[in-house]
Amino acid sequence: ARPAPLIHHLALLPGDGIGPEIMAVARQVLDHVSRRFDLRFKLEEHLVGGAALDALNEPLPEETLAACARSDGVLLACIGGPKWDNLPREKRPESGLLALRKGLEAFANLRPAKSIPQLIDASPLKPDVVRDADVMVVRELTGDVYFGEPRGLHYIFQGNGEREGLNTMIYTETEVFRVARVAFEVARKRQRKRLCSVDKANVLESSQLWRECVTKMATTYPDVELSHLYVDNAAMQLVRAPRQFDTIVTGNLFGDILSDEASMLVGSLGMLPSASLGDGTYPGVFEPVHGSAPDIAGQDKANPLAMVLSVAMLFRYQLNRSDVADTIDAAVNRVLDAGYRTADIMSGGMRLVGCREMGDAVERAMS
Ligand code: ATP
Ligand code: MG
Repeated sequence: ARPAPLIHHLALLPGDGIGPEIMAVARQVLDHVSRRFDLRFKLEEHLVGGAALDALNEPLPEETLAACARSDGVLLACIGGPKWDNLPREKRPESGLLALRKGLEAFANLRPAKSIPQLIDASPLKPDVVRDADVMVVRELTGDVYFGEPRGLHYIFQGNGEREGLNTMIYTETEVFRVARVAFEVARKRQRKRLCSVDKANVLESSQLWRECVTKMATTYPDVELSHLYVDNAAMQLVRAPRQFDTIVTGNLFGDILSDEASMLVGSLGMLPSASLGDGTYPGVFEPVHGSAPDIAGQDKANPLAMVLSVAMLFRYQLNRSDVADTIDAAVNRVLDAGYRTADIMSGGMRLVGCREMGDAVERAMS
């Protein structure tokens, strides 16, 4: 008898705005993958963000986090919107996302920025500069100056009555080692197998420690070629000659800035996926980089391709099925070749489609 097929339990979090529309396309892709690759999925939708605030008065209900924690992977669409903008910080939809990443101990954020030849004009950079650029930024997500203690905004004790704002940039060896391991593993899965660690070790002690730890970790990955750059130089090189980069690993603050900078190699929000991963204890969270686009929500205008590419990342980095990921990536490439464009990436001579029609085109392109 054939062994019972493995069932992948996936938690789907449609969230707010265009979330439900692009999540419907993700489901369509998963349905197709299930048939094509003979895989079984159990898909469960849960509330997060504004949708959860409206229903249960909290942005990340306990049952959502628990369901995500025991799933094999989390697909998140997008959250937030003007309706919830005036709530206090802990009651904002966005704090649900932060709590989710924290609850799942996702300390590494992966943001690929791969130049898309069919959309090369969407980048503000010159076509000759961005053509064939393919950068993966691995950003540490739970440490650094965003969380370091002490922090505060207060009057200076025995001062002249003025205030000071204080934050602490801090990394422990454990924190650096664990994100470095993820980055080396990612680099190892890529063709060029190169990793550039970005820091500011010429002036910052936390960066000195960062560089030492990453260098130490490199001995475990002799097949990956490691280099180091200071963040100021890296920021410049990224727009001057982006093709020199393969995988980049960096801290939370530098990664925040560099991953947004790298996204301009592509230029279009609707095309950018991401993943947030931990050490494997809990599943990763896979989601588009863009927000909930309230201005076009419910109008079948959203570009679902960032969501579709996030599904591909789920297969590549969580379910260890690069074959499925490659099939999805290739389908996206094919629909762009065929001229399908949602409004956000529309240009002359192309075929304007809505979110649903784009989803149908992707599905057809997979078979
Ligand atoms: P957030 O704070 O959640 O990042 P935001 O307002 O900064 O939200 P987005 O919600 O990403 O940013 O929207 C920015 C602009 O990009 C909006 O005009 C939106 O319509 C557009 N946009 C974002 N994502 C998409 C998409 N998938 N398809 C089409 N347009 C999009
Ligand atoms: Mg934004």
